[in-house]
Amino acid sequence: MKYALVNNIKTEAQKGLKGYCPNCSLELTAKCGDYKVHHWSHKKTINCDPWWETETEWHRNWKNHYPADWQEFSFEDPKTNEKHIADIQTVHNLVIEFQHSNIDPKERINRELFYKNIIWVVDGTRLKRDCSRFLKSFKNFKKTEKKGLFFVDYIDEVFPKNWLNSSVPVLFDFKGIEDLIDNTDIRHNLYCLFQVRVGRYSLVAEIPRKAFIGTTINGEWITRSKNFIESLIPPKNQPIQNQKIKTKPKHREGTHYYDQKKGKLVKKWRF
Ligand SMILES: [Zn+2]
Repeated sequence: MKYALVNNIKTEAQKGLKGYCPNCSLELTAKCGDYKVHHWSHKKTINCDPWWETETEWHRNWKNHYPADWQEFSFEDPKTNEKHIADIQTVHNLVIEFQHSNIDPKERINRELFYKNIIWVVDGTRLKRDCSRFLKSFKNFKKTEKKGLFFVDYIDEVFPKNWLNSSVPVLFDFKGIEDLIDNTDIRHNLYCLFQVRVGRYSLVAEIPRKAFIGTTINGEWITRSKNFIESLIPPKNQPIQNQKIKTKPKHREGTHYYDQKKGKLVKKWRF
């Protein structure tokens, strides 16, 4: 964990410092070695939160974009007393979870149910094949009228399958902790898979990293994504599967012609 409570103040790990877990109140030890990112660790090997994953530099880079008060936010379900630590909880009540490790779909569902208003940012560089598969399939994304929004066919060939049925938006980060030299490299952006489908297509939005961070901080993300998803949901009684993607209308010849002798439109004969 990045923070422990020292004299009731969220404090980063320093050699020799004692702190307490904001989730379970047990004592934590500061780990300040050369290899792993400096962190706090429970004295027992197990973290009090079974959903907790060992932090990487990637996690830290992401968390550091947000105010300290929003990081490692402890949640408790008042009915069950179940407790978990969210990576980020914004003042706009949005939970952002940064996920590097593989996740079991059951755990993903449980976390989505527990936090409710949650979005995922997934490290797309964990497996080399995930990134190369995405870059290859990106060329086949179908542009829509909205800039940066794509229809994507065969989504299971684009993103790891454990994320495809998420009930909330999932943003893939294919840059990881790499410094990209080329400014036009598409990995500067995040790729957001929305939970709504249009016909057989999935919807993927290309979102500049800065815009994502900015709108999650100022709260616009919530309203913008809500409005966007609602605009895609068809009216009642019309299932999404029946929606058709708008295509250019084919040119059709007229069915009538103007007969000068008769002075009126006359139906064309078809042979
Ligand atoms: Zn704890």
